[in-house]
Amino acid sequence: MGLGKMADLDLYGDTKEAEKKAADQKNEPVQVNETDFLLAKTMKCPVCDTEFKCKTIKAAKMPKLISRDPDLRCVYSDLDVYKYGVVSCPICGYASMLKTFGPMPSAQIKLIKEQISANFTGLGEEPEVYSYDDAIARYKLALVNTVVKRARVSERAYVCLHIAWLLRGKRQNLPADTPNKAAEEQALLAEENDCLAKARDGFMDAFSKESFRCAVWTNRLPPILSQRSAARPDREKKHSDGLRRYLRTPLRTTGSRSLREILKSSLSTENSDG
Ligand SMILES: [Zn+2]
Repeated sequence: MGLGKMADLDLYGDTKEAEKKAADQKNEPVQVNETDFLLAKTMKCPVCDTEFKCKTIKAAKMPKLISRDPDLRCVYSDLDVYKYGVVSCPICGYASMLKTFGPMPSAQIKLIKEQISANFTGLGEEPEVYSYDDAIARYKLALVNTVVKRARVSERAYVCLHIAWLLRGKRQNLPADTPNKAAEEQALLAEENDCLAKARDGFMDAFSKESFRCAVWTNRLPPILSQRSAARPDREKKHSDGLRRYLRTPLRTTGSRSLREILKSSLSTENSDG
């Protein structure tokens, strides 16, 4: 028939090849883009009335929950959802956790306009996805906003807690080739513990005064953090004194200070104390 020798014919070679390819594809990690999870949601700033887009996680595309830390931080596959928990207005500098972003009393708006907007120089170019540093910067802006608008202590504590979680996420995901990786991890851990202590003290304070939902946190945080309290009572005392000062003293700003300076001074108050 003109087909020549068939002894060498690999009768099932093509199917084996296809099976191998399919198996390889199965074993290959699926490339997931963080952008696939994100939604550009239109928000209206309660301070300056500007409409802007903010990044949130698509409700239908929540990544898979992998584990939960003792302080309730959830670890998800593919991305750290906490990076997208803050809404920040690119025009006036008002920022808040997504759940507290919305209408607010005119007295608070006035405070933010005077103390944040007057000094705000912008968020810089909006990245496609947030690095940990991008996210932490936005949470710190939200934290300063809570202080300026004299938000409830529980709201301030809630932001502190999330900053601690982001610092932990950053530490756990540091690239292997990070220069001075051990020192960087140490510094991140120290800052995380500082934020956890601030959060814990804030929730305790709020629990005694605000009598509401932060009960869930105050019930769970102390056992985790009190171990550290027992080990470092002096440090804990400093933390709680510093936090009290930090959380209760409205941020004093002058017109000439940039947002960077405001952030730096307000957030390093604790560090310089301790
Ligand atoms: Zn605004």
